[in-house]
Amino acid sequence: QTKSRPYPVFLGDGIIDNVGEWLLSVCNNPSKILIITDQTIKDLYGGKLESVLKAFDLDVLTCVVPSGEQSKSFETYYKCLTFALENNLDRESVIIAFGGGVVGDLAGFVAATFMRGIPFIQVPTTLLAHDSAVGGKVAINHPLGKNMIGAFHQPHAIIYDTQFLKTLPLLEIRSGFAEVVKHGFINDRSFVENLMKTIHSLNHVTSEQLQWFIRKGIEVKAEIVAEDERETGKRAFLNFGHTLGHALEAELGYGKISHGDAVACGMLFALWLSEKIFRKDFQYKSTKNWFNEIGFPVKIDENIQTESLLERMKKDKKTVHSQIRFVLLEDIGNPVLKTFDTHTLYSFLNEWRT
Ligand code: ADP
Ligand code: ZN
Repeated sequence: QTKSRPYPVFLGDGIIDNVGEWLLSVCNNPSKILIITDQTIKDLYGGKLESVLKAFDLDVLTCVVPSGEQSKSFETYYKCLTFALENNLDRESVIIAFGGGVVGDLAGFVAATFMRGIPFIQVPTTLLAHDSAVGGKVAINHPLGKNMIGAFHQPHAIIYDTQFLKTLPLLEIRSGFAEVVKHGFINDRSFVENLMKTIHSLNHVTSEQLQWFIRKGIEVKAEIVAEDERETGKRAFLNFGHTLGHALEAELGYGKISHGDAVACGMLFALWLSEKIFRKDFQYKSTKNWFNEIGFPVKIDENIQTESLLERMKKDKKTVHSQIRFVLLEDIGNPVLKTFDTHTLYSFLNEWRT
């Protein structure tokens, strides 16, 4: 893993007009610009981004992939590379990832591998992408596992215009909001308290609030990722809510529950378990009510067997010798890693569910 160089994060409402100028400030004299985007974003905003760049006399091409997770495939990756080669991109070219987490991961991996790596710029259009855009992990899926083929490749800049989020469906806003809440739980108690005090619905979040979420989320993620380069192991804390969350996603079938909803449910269990293990009050009850108010699932569908979830957790990349690693909280803002054997975790999970 390469040491990350610092890169600028531009955040604001309606800042898309500045993309050309900012791109030129971080990439010297690019030969061509390749925008990789999905069909939804292309239809909504593709023309706008192209015209902003063309106003700077840049040579702009757009490669459009289907919307959704299925585009993080080897086939789509290959098509993007073919597009880049056929259009004579070279080492001086720049890729713009214009879309959500899927496009960010795909376009980032194309940029990481095309001619051994060319610069790329993230222009995220979802709230969830605040999480995936930071940390330099880019990847595509293999039929045998998510994110199994990837690289570390830092963007040259992140340009985050909250204007785009106005068309994002509520489900997607909520999915991204779960990671915002996670970043609070593992890093900043007062931020969590402020969120609980001020956000009672995600139906009408303002662009100021979105910027607040994104700024905080990026700050926390960047801090943890930077610390982890000193091998403090802090990156594992980002997994808060994810051990159970991933199991839920896989068990229900991807697409049946959003990533954020699954993680929210996982965080709730982790919070309950933290209270149990550390015999402290983490306001589990009020958090549960708040999650419910916002629309997060606060319990696991009764048709899902606890056994099956445990099986999934055992298969997780992060599980070693059937000892399941779980991120708990010693305090809100202060995470710890705890290891459980499957039987213990099974009883806890069952107890929580009943
Ligand atoms: P993430 O991993 O960030 O949730 P995805 O790339 O899977 O992002 O995007 C989720 C879905 O939302 C996709 O179908 C995508 O086309 C769509 N989408 C992304 N951004 C927007 C937006 N700003 N407005 C409307 N739809 C969007
Ligand atoms: Zn996540």
